[in-house]
Amino acid sequence: MLSNFEGIKHNEPMNLHTTFRTGGVADLFYEPHDNDSLKAVLAEAKNENVPVTVIGNGSNLLVLDGGIRGLVIKLGKKFSASETDGEFVVAQSGALMSQVAMLAYNAGLGGFEFAQGIPGSVGGGLYMNAGAYGGEMKDVIQSAEYLKDGMIYTINAGDMKLSYRKSIFMENGGVITSVRLKLYRDNKEEILAKINDFKCRRVSKQPLEFASAGSTFKRPEGYFAGALIEQAGLKGKNVGAAEVSQKHAGFIINRGGATAKEILELIEIVKETVYKDAGVMLETEVKIIGEE
Ligand SMILES: Cc1cc2nc3c(=O)[nH]c(=O)nc-3n(C[C@H](O)[C@H](O)[C@H](O)COP(=O)(O)OP(=O)(O)OC[C@H]3O[C@@H](n4cnc5c(N)ncnc54)[C@H](O)[C@@H]3O)c2cc1C
Repeated sequence: MLSNFEGIKHNEPMNLHTTFRTGGVADLFYEPHDNDSLKAVLAEAKNENVPVTVIGNGSNLLVLDGGIRGLVIKLGKKFSASETDGEFVVAQSGALMSQVAMLAYNAGLGGFEFAQGIPGSVGGGLYMNAGAYGGEMKDVIQSAEYLKDGMIYTINAGDMKLSYRKSIFMENGGVITSVRLKLYRDNKEEILAKINDFKCRRVSKQPLEFASAGSTFKRPEGYFAGALIEQAGLKGKNVGAAEVSQKHAGFIINRGGATAKEILELIEIVKETVYKDAGVMLETEVKIIGEE
C-alpha cells in the first residue's frame, strides 16, 4: 500500500517545499534516495491509480492553497549525488544548480557559472531549460536519464527540444533522474570572477530578501516583462501580502504569509493591466499546481 510505503509522509505542507512559501498540504509526500526507490513508489502509485506530481527544489512553483491530491515526489537532497568525470559533471537530478556550479568551479571547469544563483535542482533546471546571464542548460547538457513507465531511458541533448524555458520533458512526462553536463577546462580565478559578478548583479537587481519564485512571467518576444509591468505603473501593487516587487517588477514577492489566492489574483491584475497598457499578454513562467 502506498500510504504505508516506507518513508512516505501524510499531509505534508507544501509551503515547506516551495521558495514562494505557499501551498496547502500534499496528501502523500515522498523523497526517493535512488532510482530503485523512485521506481518502486511510482509503480505503487500506478497500481493504486494515485496521481503523481514531481518537484525539485520548488523554486518555480505556485502551489495553490487547497494543496495537492495524490502523491508528491520531491527529488531533493536525498537524490543529489554529483561528481566530475574529466570535463563532464554527472549529477542526480535533485542536486542543486548552485552545488553543481561550485563542484565545477572546484574542479576548474567553466561554463556553468550562470547557474550558481538559480535556486533550483539540475532536474528542474533541465525541465525548464533554466538560464541566466547569457547561459542556459541547453548550452551545457550532453545527455540525461529519465524514468518513464518503469524504464530508465538515456536522451541526448539534440533530442531534448530545448528552447526558451521549454524542454521535451514537458511533453513526455518522464522523471529526470540524472544529467550529464559537458563543461570545459578553465582558469579557476576566471570562473570565480564570473560567479561573483553574476552574484553581485542578482543581489543588486532582485528582491532576494523576500520569498518568490523568481521571474513570475516569461519574457515576451521583443519585450522585458519587468519593464512592461513597471511602465503600467504596477511596481509595489499588492493584494494582501503578495506584491509586485519595488526592486524588480518582474518578480511577485510574498511579503510574509501571502496566500496562493492573493498571488494568483495579483498575477491576473498584472496580466490585464499590461495587456490594456501595452497590448502584450504575459504568460506565467511559474508553474501553478494544486487545488484552489
Ligand atoms: C530568487 C529566484 C531566482 C531565479 N532565477 C532564475 C534564473 O535566473 N533563471 C531561470 O531560468 N530561473 C530562475 N528561477 C526559477 C527557478 O529557480 C528555475 O525555474 C529552476 O530551474 C526550477 O528548478 P526546481 O528544481 O526548483 O524545479 P521546481 O520548481 O520544483 O519544478 C519546476 C518544474 O519542473 C518539473 N520538475 C522538477 N524536477 C523534475 C525532474 N527531476 N523531472 C521532471 N520534472 C521535474 C516540475 O514538475 C515543475 O513542472 C529563479 C527562482 C527564484 C526563486
